[in-house]
Amino acid sequence: MKIQVLGCHGSDMILESQYSSQCCRSSGFLFNDHLLIDAGTAASALSLEAQRKIRHVLLSHIHLDHIKELPALADNLLGTGEATITVSSTPVILEELKQYVFNDHIYPNFFELPKGRTPILVELALQPGESTRIAEFDIIPIKVNHTVPTVGFIIQDDTAACLYSGDTYQTEEIWKMAATIPNLKAVLIETSFPDEMSELALASKHLTPSLLAQEFKKIGRPDLPLYIYHIKPTFRDQILTQLHRLNIPTLSVLEEGQEICLE
Ligand SMILES: [Zn+2]
Ligand SMILES: [Zn+2]
Repeated sequence: MKIQVLGCHGSDMILESQYSSQCCRSSGFLFNDHLLIDAGTAASALSLEAQRKIRHVLLSHIHLDHIKELPALADNLLGTGEATITVSSTPVILEELKQYVFNDHIYPNFFELPKGRTPILVELALQPGESTRIAEFDIIPIKVNHTVPTVGFIIQDDTAACLYSGDTYQTEEIWKMAATIPNLKAVLIETSFPDEMSELALASKHLTPSLLAQEFKKIGRPDLPLYIYHIKPTFRDQILTQLHRLNIPTLSVLEEGQEICLE
């Protein structure tokens, strides 16, 4: 299983320090070149050829930093051959996507365009807690604790399984489910705010480094590689320092452009 990190921050920004600059982008993770999990970053990070390989998009929730490049992706594929993308999520999240985004006001309804031909976007409803086969992957969405309906995912192929938390505060079900997956090789968990901002983390239903440590323990697999994403760029240095202090040997912080191979 190959995971390309297109974007792994809680917002978009160029972070400048004395010696370097770093381009932070919203969440977008490309699995085996053709399955995209969240579309906060997609079109702006990929050539048209690479975009045309994307056949499936899984959405964790409707917040803009997880969907905002789906319209550009659909638009770019229009007229470039019959490239249909299946957009998968729970029924409520798919309904929100059609109601608020592809509604012919904010953006054309690519679930119906081009007229008279197969639409660019096709929806596939997933049921929380149930496994669905999508290409070579078995996908299980699991509800997590965020301010709007949100799911994390367990993604499995023949080689490995990986957990993606989605945006979440303290939660239970996804960690219980993760503990039952024998082939689990990695977990991607959000951490958004520094510990000092625990009130904002609660209000916006995100994790801080201290909360992340508590959540990770619930899986009962301290050996698992733990990849952090969704850091708010403004607080990156502070959060990195606090993550380092957790002393979790398997923890690393994701960066744009990184590639992870699980087997
Ligand atoms: Zn969110
Ligand atoms: Zn987010």
